[in-house]
Amino acid sequence: MKKINPGAIVFSISLLGSSIQIHAAESDHEQHEAHVHGEAQLMIAVEGDALEIEFHTPAMNIVGFEHRPADEAQIQAVESAIGTLKQPDLVFSIPSTAKCEPVSIEVESPLAEHAEHAEHADHDHEEETHSNFTGHYHFRCAEISHLEKIDIKLFEQFPGTEVIEVQSISKRGQQKIDLTPGQSALEL
Ligand SMILES: [Zn+2]
Repeated sequence: MKKINPGAIVFSISLLGSSIQIHAAESDHEQHEAHVHGEAQLMIAVEGDALEIEFHTPAMNIVGFEHRPADEAQIQAVESAIGTLKQPDLVFSIPSTAKCEPVSIEVESPLAEHAEHAEHADHDHEEETHSNFTGHYHFRCAEISHLEKIDIKLFEQFPGTEVIEVQSISKRGQQKIDLTPGQSALEL
C-alpha cells in the first residue's frame, strides 16, 4: 500500500438525512480522488425501515488496474466487476429475517465509461491516474429490527481489499470501525 497525494480534505456524504464526514486524501486538480490502494470506505445508515449503504474503493482493489482498459480482457474485467457489484447479495450478507429488498442500486466507475470507448481510444501514453469504483445501495426492510449485523463480502469478491473503513449510523448510534478479511461483520 502506498499513499498518494499529500494533504487532506473533508468530503461529506448525506445518508438518510444524517451527515457523516469522511476524511479523504486530497484530490488533485484533475479531480481524481486520491486514495490508498487496499483501503476502501463504506458508509451505512439505518433509519426507519431504510438501509442505505455506500462505498468507495480504488479500482486497484477491484480489477487490479486503474488506467483505462487497454484490451478486451481488461474491458471484461471491468464489466464483470460491475456485474458483481450490482448484485447486493454477492457483496453484503444481510440477515434474511430483516427482509430487506433493494430499492435502488447504483454502481459507477470511470473505467466503465472508458471501456465503452476503448475501441476508439488512441494509444498515447497517459499520465498515471487513480480511479475508483463507487456503489450506492438503498434497501427497504420489512423487519428492520432483525437487522443486527451486516457481513461485508467485498473482501471475498475482491481480494485486493485489505481494510474497509466503515462509518455507520444505526440504533447503536454512530460507529467507526475498520473491517478486515478476518473480521468482516459489522454489528448494527
Ligand atoms: Zn490508485
